[in-house]
Amino acid sequence: MRTLGDLDVAGKRVLVRVDFNVPLKEESGAGPAGGSHVTASGTRTVTDDTRIRAALPTLEALREQGAQLVLVAHLGRPEGEHDPALSLAPVCARLGELLEDPVSLAPGVVGPEVQRAAEGLREGEVLMLENVRFEAGETANDPDLARGLAALADAYVNDAFGAAHRAHASTEGVAHLLPCAAGLLLQREVETLETILREPARPLVAVVGGAKVTDKIGVLETFLGQADSVLIGGAMCFPFLSAQGHSVGDSLCADEDVEAARGLLGRGPLALPDDLVLGDRFAAEAQIRQLDGVDVPDGWMGLDIGARSARTYGQRIAEAGTTFWNGPMGAFELEPFAAGTRTVAEAMAAAPGTTVVGGGDSAAALARFGLADRVTHLSTGGGASLELIEGRELPGVEALR
Ligand code: ADP
Ligand code: MG
Repeated sequence: MRTLGDLDVAGKRVLVRVDFNVPLKEESGAGPAGGSHVTASGTRTVTDDTRIRAALPTLEALREQGAQLVLVAHLGRPEGEHDPALSLAPVCARLGELLEDPVSLAPGVVGPEVQRAAEGLREGEVLMLENVRFEAGETANDPDLARGLAALADAYVNDAFGAAHRAHASTEGVAHLLPCAAGLLLQREVETLETILREPARPLVAVVGGAKVTDKIGVLETFLGQADSVLIGGAMCFPFLSAQGHSVGDSLCADEDVEAARGLLGRGPLALPDDLVLGDRFAAEAQIRQLDGVDVPDGWMGLDIGARSARTYGQRIAEAGTTFWNGPMGAFELEPFAAGTRTVAEAMAAAPGTTVVGGGDSAAALARFGLADRVTHLSTGGGASLELIEGRELPGVEALR
């Protein structure tokens, strides 16, 4: 993969693909000063700027080398239509605050007016294109849109790891038309995950939880083949327990997941919980019961791994050379069922080995426990990181090779 060091950007215009797909909130009336954007219906602000901050090292590095930046990003799913509610204006305002320099927003994605705005940039200045998914050609990887984007710059840098599993015009097509390189964030994401797969410090422990076996079957297959232990938690454990002949009560456990789990049993070093926390329904006010064992009675559902299982998992993490964690150990959004996920998160934070977390809900859990900066690497790309672990090639990354 070509990296920033391979690209000469001094005095050049560089098109940078970033992942600024951040959550926004709409407030009626006056919003806070700065970082806000007034629309017909009120003020929209960025509620979590983690992804914007994650791109700053690349943007700063390029500006320091005297480049002019044209940023391209998507927000939500406007499906090829101009939708003012999905304008990048609030993101542009927040980026300007973080860079401590105003960032201008182009009147569109490509075309003569945008071209003029790009050509008017001076050294170190930053122009943000409008939401690239306002153009139907983006998700279709339309060569005309890729050419329009390429015309705006002399070089292309992709720092949008979270979008690298999509072959879109701004993530794949345009990379073939300009000298290109990976940004620092994308490079770190890919190198970290490739190290886990190729030469991890051992023992390699994978902790896999969350909702559905079928969503993560490729990840489970990879780790059953390569890890020293695969610790299962979350609703993920019930299909395995069911396949072993245990009763699962009302726990989340689809037939197709039981079939998938049956096919994985015996394929590697799989560990399942041996105690559970049950609730009589999926709610914070549910009746709660600790179960020493894994046969869930009718009328109850397993909503967290038990304290003993969580301690065992925590110990394995403490002894690991490398731990990869994806998927919460229980319904952590409900306080009575958050303990298993919290124990695993705390073990990750305290572990002397390399600790890597992938997945939107796992990242949210870490953040909720205040431990987001205590792991070695918190992946910004949920789908992209899982696809990389499944051994699939990411089109946005392959185009940079
Ligand atoms: P990630 O986004 O980290 O990949 P997933 O999306 O696979 O994780 O799973 C997260 C969801 O799984 C959470 O919403 C959580 O409530 C749910 N979950 C975890 N354990 C259980 C359980 N035992 N019963 C029901 N839902 C669960
Ligand atoms: Mg999720």
